[in-house]
Amino acid sequence: MKLKGGNRGSGSGNREFGIRGERRNPHSAFYNLQSTIYNQQSTINKRAVCLISGGLDSCVTAAIAKKRGYEIYALSFDYGQRHKKELESAKAVAKALRAAGHKTIKLDLRQIGGSALTDSKIGVPERGAEGIGGDIPATYVPARNTIFLSVALGYAEVVGAGAIFIGANDQDYSGYPDCRPEYFGAFRKLARLATKCSVEGRPIKIETPIIHLKKKDIVRKGMELGAPLHLTWSCYKGGKKACGKCDSCLLRLKGFKEAGIKDPVEYE
Ligand SMILES: [Zn+2]
Repeated sequence: MKLKGGNRGSGSGNREFGIRGERRNPHSAFYNLQSTIYNQQSTINKRAVCLISGGLDSCVTAAIAKKRGYEIYALSFDYGQRHKKELESAKAVAKALRAAGHKTIKLDLRQIGGSALTDSKIGVPERGAEGIGGDIPATYVPARNTIFLSVALGYAEVVGAGAIFIGANDQDYSGYPDCRPEYFGAFRKLARLATKCSVEGRPIKIETPIIHLKKKDIVRKGMELGAPLHLTWSCYKGGKKACGKCDSCLLRLKGFKEAGIKDPVEYE
């Protein structure tokens, strides 16, 4: 309340006057303080944790976060996937998007297995484009998004991020249960209940900006935003060039073809 009383006549001298000598509003110190606090808060809320896998979808999603004015804190997982190539891509993508930070968390899901991506005894399916969209494929990693989002939630709370961006997509294929909008609806509720910052009035949003986009539209969005698509890696195999045959390659190729854009990645 002392601030509200103003500095007038309190001996604070020329602090009452602006640079050009005009008399300031006696409330200005109060307002300046308020605006400083507001600016600090808005800066904090403009941080986002972006899950970056090295693939196309997460790259475009992070580019969307950047376009919305967020400072990116990239998060990747070394979870025992079949190859490290996508992690190298994740690093390059985070760097290209000028992420303020990038963490790669080691979390070996091979100890659980149960997926073609985390158990070398289970083969990566090559079903052809027409086979995509049927059953949940062997590339489903049990509870992966729940595991990743939980770590992201902790990271977001620590860096003071107001949002988590994840490149989940319910179109085109997979039928992965943890890519459905209702799954993210449930996780948003969990995030509100689970964190100290949320209880104190600083909730963390879970953003899924490409969830309903077709692959061709994801490609177009990426091009429009200047996302570093040339650095991404989608192939389930870690060869020198992408295989062009796995589900992920087929979908990517189809997306670029339908978008009328040449895929910058090389294929076998
Ligand atoms: Zn492939």
